[in-house]
Amino acid sequence: MEDTKIVLSESELPQCWYNINPDLPAPLPPPIHPGTGKPLGPADLAPLFPMELIKQEMSMDPWIEIPNEVRDVLRLWRPSPLYRAHRLEKALGTPARVYYKNESFSPPGSHKPNTAVAQAYYNKQEGLKRIATETGAGQWGSALSFACQFFGLECTVYMVKVSYHQKPYRRSLMETWGATVYASPTNLTNAGRGVLEKDPDSPGSLGIAISEAVEDAATHDDCHYSLGSVLNHVLLHQTVVGLEAKKQLEIAGEGLPDVICGCVGGGSNFAGAAFPFVKDKLNGADIDIIACEPEACPTLTRGLYHYDFGDTAMLTPLVKMYTLGHGFVPAPIHAGGLRYHGDAPQLCLLVKEGVIAARAYHQIPCFDAAVQFARTEGFLPAPETSHAIRCGIDEALKCKETGEEKCIMIAFSGHGFFDLGAYDSYFAGDLEDYEYPQEKIEEALQALPPFENPVME
Ligand SMILES: *Cc1c(COP(=O)(O)O)cnc(C)c1O
Repeated sequence: MEDTKIVLSESELPQCWYNINPDLPAPLPPPIHPGTGKPLGPADLAPLFPMELIKQEMSMDPWIEIPNEVRDVLRLWRPSPLYRAHRLEKALGTPARVYYKNESFSPPGSHKPNTAVAQAYYNKQEGLKRIATETGAGQWGSALSFACQFFGLECTVYMVKVSYHQKPYRRSLMETWGATVYASPTNLTNAGRGVLEKDPDSPGSLGIAISEAVEDAATHDDCHYSLGSVLNHVLLHQTVVGLEAKKQLEIAGEGLPDVICGCVGGGSNFAGAAFPFVKDKLNGADIDIIACEPEACPTLTRGLYHYDFGDTAMLTPLVKMYTLGHGFVPAPIHAGGLRYHGDAPQLCLLVKEGVIAARAYHQIPCFDAAVQFARTEGFLPAPETSHAIRCGIDEALKCKETGEEKCIMIAFSGHGFFDLGAYDSYFAGDLEDYEYPQEKIEEALQALPPFENPVME
């Protein structure tokens, strides 16, 4: 048998992140102010983010050096292994060669600490004492808690109340890494108090938790805010994944892959794995790069490319992206990390330009794929990750029909050890597939802000 896992030494951890901004096939529409429609400047973002991250957000340098202090923490689990899925291939009877880049070995169990560590570092450098953030199911909150602990920063996490009670072990994990976790809405912020006055039993929502974390950061000089996906600098930090994978595929004798599949919530793990290969595609390489999302939240496949708010509470700047409307209310699917109404602007632009394809999947076939994967390869995928696996398996099965010996790479974003309740529901036959109704999409799109383009002076 050829090698099962392709590992790199610590010294081969990338020295630089790959910034896709200068290579984008069209200019990226800037974030704009919701009142005036004018592009935001660095000063608008300074109360929330350190200047180094704001610079990265707007940078046109193709490569940005990774500070040694960041690389020293990433070394705990990076470079992550690239696996050849020999046993899955055999079970499928496919002539395709299937690989997966396994991000589940980080202490929090997903790709998210790749950016959390960098963000904590730049906040520490700028003299901040504390970072506030929101978390839904807890993956982002645990990644940031872990990262803050390593740089001696305090971490305040506003966790959606219903998840706080339903996922107590994620909270325990964050507290073990030293974070303070509140069930949101709290009575500590104006945003939270406003909600509690109207509804003392509010289960909370990601929108409310964002408002609380942003208010906390904006009203305390020693505190910043941090976001785990969507923004350019977050996608930038994730490119270590694809840069490592590229070297590993070369070692495996593959060169470039024919197909790349990844799941998309806000777009960060997908972009991290795919963007270094997008550069090759723009230079003429023939690669199918497929972004996978739930049918219950079909942002890229059925949304509109338009300026919209990043949050439900309409507090953020407007960004140009595919959107289901900021009023989108997700169905209770188990891939909690894939229920965002928008997606990263860089990714959306590449879908708009036809460089990246998008596909939507129902959750039951995704769990079918996840279980087949766990039973052949051993690793238990997060429900989010199962969308990428469904796509990879479908592509491998197509090769079985056509006889094509394609090289397929799956972005394995994280493990599902905290999601076994979802697997239980699947095995009990309690899962339902939801398709988002077209009327709802059209209704939500009526409420989009009126800007097609930035208003220029
Ligand atoms: C958060 C999460 C996602 C979705 O977020 P992206 O920013 O789209 O990557 C996917 N997989 C796992 C395991 C996650 O924790």
